[in-house]
Formats: sequence, structure tokens, C-alpha cells
Amino acid sequence: MSNFSSHNFKDQRALIRVDFNVPIKNGEITDDTRIRGALPTIRKVLADGGSVILMSHWGRPLKDIEKKPNLTLADFSLKPLVAHLGQLLSTEVHFADDCNSDAAAQKAKDLKPGQVLLLENLRYYKQEEKGDKDFAEKLAKLGDVYVNDAFGTAHRAHASTAVIAQFFPGDKKMFGLLMEGEVKAAEEVLHNNKRPFTAIIGGAKVSDKILIIENLLDKATDIIIGGGMAYTFFKAEGGHIGNSLCEEDRLEMALDLLKKADEKGVSIHLPADSIIADKFAGDATTSSALSNEVPANWMGLDIGPMAIAQFQKIIRESKTILWNGPMGVFEMEKFQHGTKAIAEAVVEATKHGAFSLVGGGDSVAAVNKFHLADKVSYVSTGGGAMLEYFEGKELPGIAAIKTPQA
Ligand code: AMP
Repeated sequence: MSNFSSHNFKDQRALIRVDFNVPIKNGEITDDTRIRGALPTIRKVLADGGSVILMSHWGRPLKDIEKKPNLTLADFSLKPLVAHLGQLLSTEVHFADDCNSDAAAQKAKDLKPGQVLLLENLRYYKQEEKGDKDFAEKLAKLGDVYVNDAFGTAHRAHASTAVIAQFFPGDKKMFGLLMEGEVKAAEEVLHNNKRPFTAIIGGAKVSDKILIIENLLDKATDIIIGGGMAYTFFKAEGGHIGNSLCEEDRLEMALDLLKKADEKGVSIHLPADSIIADKFAGDATTSSALSNEVPANWMGLDIGPMAIAQFQKIIRESKTILWNGPMGVFEMEKFQHGTKAIAEAVVEATKHGAFSLVGGGDSVAAVNKFHLADKVSYVSTGGGAMLEYFEGKELPGIAAIKTPQA
């Protein structure tokens, strides 16, 4: 594996796997965060005097077309990105309307230093998700150097994210700047953490977070559990949770987790009280209750003031913080207070020297909503990938770059 920043790309064609899976409505990009995320990597290659070939997936064309025959491949084209990317880079962006054709190969070959070529959606080919070796080898021929800057798909062993790396020698494959940042931040939390290390896990379902909690039992000193998933724990311990979210088939597992934590000396913190509502709606009538004494017909939709104070204290004293999942239904004004208070505590701890990583879709949406994203140490762009990393799994996209041989 080579180091991107110290690599000189002069007269080299960098084949960069990016994640340009951006939301597009009626041909318009509605959020270009992912495109902007890849700009530093692209700019560095161009500034060195190299050329850039960009490849990405967009949506799930083949699966969606199978379900909805009125759709065609054209509905999944990356072409609407060409003009916008050109504007962001202040240069013309060329386009190959088939990522794996001889015409694409010719276009890549003809690139001059400073030029950029975007390939059509990789997932037009079923071989991409299947991790087909021949398909990957043909893609590999487009570039002299392979750069993976798509952390969001690093947990997939697809042709362009993992399989392709074997066709490049160790000094010609590397992470891009975005991916490097993600990997560094994740390693900082999982392997170089300073203690106390607090993991804040929230969201709707225990079943989604069980693997991450289990893995963190060997790493963290404290695990805060909030959001809808907390009520499965209260119910398992014999509490009354009214109509709050509960996974009845996970009660035993919840008890088992608490027992394991106890054995390993990890403190699990559940929210002492909750903001409760008479219905799941923004205009619900609200009240507060102890989380294990929620009255019948009421449901806990946010953590309460006691829980906020309890969690804030732990967070403020932490030196490493990992946050995945909101503390309540933060999308609704009445139930956003707990998530916001936790975000503010994470910001405060960061100000005092803690390393804080926010990862996973909804907690990222929450810090963005409260305009606090730039006040934590790192906000991960890779939801599923980050989750799998913290579950302790080896991500194929990372492993493929780190594997030394050609
Ligand atoms: P997840 O994707 O599992 O991280 O879950 C995020 C979702 O959980 C968000 O849409 C929240 O609105 C929802 N959520 C958080 N707390 C609760 C709760 N107490 N009851 C129901 N849903 C919740």
C-alpha cells in the first residue's frame, strides 16, 4: 500500500473509486456532499500533473428495473453529474457512457495531464456487485494507479471496491484522502483510544446494534444506550414500558448483554427517565416518566432531564467518544431535546481534548441538524461501512488496499 499524499502522480492516470451516489431529483443534484468529499483527492492528482478517471455506482439499477419495468438504465446515469463536477473542479469533465467498454479504455488512454474522465454507473453491470474478476481486471487497465476514496462502500467486496486492487502492485494502490481520514478516525477510536472511552448507541432497534455493542464490550469503558432500543432493556429487566418500542424476541439477548458487560467491567448506562407521548406524532401530548414506569398507552420518545444530566456527566469526563444513533425521535421538535443535549455534551468534551467520532446515518443527520458537525473531531460519511468496522469486521475495501502483493 502506498501513501496518497506522498505519491507523485505526474504523468500517471489515477483510477479513483469514488462514492458519487448522491441524491438526484429530476436530473438535479439535491445534495452534493459526497462529490465535494472527493475533491481534495482529485485536485491533488491534477495538481501533480496526473489525470483522473472516476468510477462510481449510483443506486441499484438492475434490481430496481427488475421490480419496476418502466425504469431504464438511463434513469440511473451518472451523466447529470458531469456539468456540476466540472464547475466544482473548474475544468471540463469527459464522460464515458459505458464503464467497461473499449471506447472507455480509449478515452482513458487519450487523457492528458490535468484532464478528468467520469465513467458511467458501474452497476449497469451485474459483475460489479458480484465482484467479477474479469470485469475488475478490465477496469484496472484504465489506470496506472488505483485509489480507493469510497469509504461508504468499503464493506462490500465488489469489483471496483476490492477485487480490482489485486491487479495493482503494492506501490500503485492506496486510499484517497477521504478514505484515509475515515480509516484514521476509526482506528483512533477502536485501537488507539484514550480512556475513559464512551460509546453512545441509540436509534430504533437493538437488533441492528447488537454486534456493535458486543464488540465494544471489549473496548469501551462506558456504553450509553438511548433511543427506542433502550426500552427492550427495561422490559427485559421487568420494567413497564407502555407502548414504547420493544423487540420482544430480543429480551433475552438484552439481559445477556447486560450480564456480559457486568462480567467485563463495562458500565452500561440506560436513561433513567423519558419524555413520553400519547401517540407517535409531532403534535402528541407529552409528559415525563421513569423509563421503567411508562404508563399504559404512553410511549417513550426521548430521554428525560435526569437521563440527560446522567449522560452528559459521563460524556464530559470521556477522552474518547463514539456516537451512533439518536437518543429520541429527533426528527420531531418535541423529541429532539435529548439528542441535542447529547450532541452539545460531545462538543464540549471535544473542546476539552476528547476525540469524538460521529458515525452512522441518523446521528450524522442529527449533528448536521444542530449545526454541530464541525465541532466534533470527525463525522463519518460511511454509515454501513462504519458500523461494520465497529462490529469488528474486516472491511474488504480496506483489506484489499493493505494486502501487499500485486
Ligand atoms: P437507527 O436507524 O436504528 O439509528 O434509528 C434511528 C431512528 O430511530 C430515528 O428515525 C429515530 O426517530 C428513531 N427513534 C429514536 N428513538 C426512538 C424512540 N424512543 N421511539 C421510536 N423511535 C425512535
